[in-house]
Amino acid sequence: MVLAQLGGSISRALHQMSNATIIDEKVLNDCLNEITRALLQADVQFKLVRDMQTNIKKIVNLDDLAAGHNKRKIIQQAIFNELCKILDPGKPAFTLKKGKPSVVMFVGLQGSGKTTTCTKYAYYHQKKGWKPALVCADTFRAGAFDQLKQNATKAKIPFYGSYTESDPVRIAVEGVERFKKENCDLIIVDTSGRHKQEAALFEEMRQVSEATKPDLVIFVMDSSIGQAAFDQAQAFKQSVAVGAVIVTKMDGHAKGGGALSAVAATKSPVIFIGTGEHMDEFEVFDVKPFVSRLLGMGDWSGFMDKIHEVVPMDQQPELLQKLSEGTFTLRIMYEQFQNILKMGPIGQVFSMLPGFSQELMPQGREKESQAKIKRYMTMMDSMTNEELDSSNPKLMNESRIMRIARGCGRPVRDVVDMLEEYKRLAKIWGKMKGLKIPKKGEMSALSRNMNA
Ligand code: GDP
Repeated sequence: MVLAQLGGSISRALHQMSNATIIDEKVLNDCLNEITRALLQADVQFKLVRDMQTNIKKIVNLDDLAAGHNKRKIIQQAIFNELCKILDPGKPAFTLKKGKPSVVMFVGLQGSGKTTTCTKYAYYHQKKGWKPALVCADTFRAGAFDQLKQNATKAKIPFYGSYTESDPVRIAVEGVERFKKENCDLIIVDTSGRHKQEAALFEEMRQVSEATKPDLVIFVMDSSIGQAAFDQAQAFKQSVAVGAVIVTKMDGHAKGGGALSAVAATKSPVIFIGTGEHMDEFEVFDVKPFVSRLLGMGDWSGFMDKIHEVVPMDQQPELLQKLSEGTFTLRIMYEQFQNILKMGPIGQVFSMLPGFSQELMPQGREKESQAKIKRYMTMMDSMTNEELDSSNPKLMNESRIMRIARGCGRPVRDVVDMLEEYKRLAKIWGKMKGLKIPKKGEMSALSRNMNA
């Protein structure tokens, strides 16, 4: 998985560098070699990786940096900037206006995840107050309409399609007309895919596009093709006016980094990534927060966006208030562990936080992480209210630790481990002290502040 493997390797390399007493040429080279290896494993193009390494070495001239300079921070910033460069298409994503009827056409090869992604896209916007509708103009693949119908019904999104009509253009036009009349503001047209890029596919796409005049064409691509994404994205761009790309299956493939950078090289903005088969395993893609997460710095804008998206409205103010106070008690840790264990969408919220993601809950090792969290919670069940509600780490003296260990029947070492974990998370949480609670739409400003 791109975030777990690539992110893990990169943040480990940075961590090792931070642990070095003196940052010299060798330490910097070791760190860059480790990052290079991780990027090449993620199938990022060799030339991009080599250029990145050269640029960082040019920017970070260790001899010129006076002793007072924070070398670690300068190196981390240089790596951050270079990774952003690799993923930046140099073009902002096209945005649609809520309330005005927009037609969005989805194109891509068969099996890329197009139909699944149409529903995820509709569902995402529905939660943000849009009125989406789905049109199945895929008459090529048997069962495509049934699949879309099933997904749409689950998400309570209106849909249109036909079991008998074989002309995709006709279905697309009828569907779009119907939903315009019904005042839907996001009409999503799913088109056919093929196993290969071939003339018949491109011709059909062109016809549907001409007939429905989409405001935006989204190209859906499977991340497992890695660097080959460049050729595929170019081919689709040459046939229809692709305005944005969604890269799917970022949960299952190590080549995701290569796919993302290859798409960027075609100057097409990636707007979302698919991170699983479920409807809400879908994330907004934004270069800076994404890289920030790769480097283990957390994704603050994604975090706030997810809070607004998935935490029930009535619980949002309390959670945000606690965040802005920066006070992290063992009780708050307990409550957040409960949320993570429910593995409802809130689990995804906390995966955006630095610390919660990489170290406590490394992706791919969810079972172990859950067992650890349960163990911690059993220990916390043996604590008094005073202990749970205190934010004074000195309160937890030896006799209290011994009592808790006896109470939960676990070795003292385990209780100490749990308290260490608490201190680590409290430090992260503390960074949010004084946080101005943003309204929707103010997320990127927040992200800049927190990552600065
Ligand atoms: P289409 O032929 O392009 O319409 O592809 P489908 O939407 O039918 O998806 C093909 C397969 O990929 C299905 O089994 C989906 O559940 C799966 N899929 C789609 N997106 C993702 C994703 O982001 N992650 C994972 N793991 N599977 C996905």
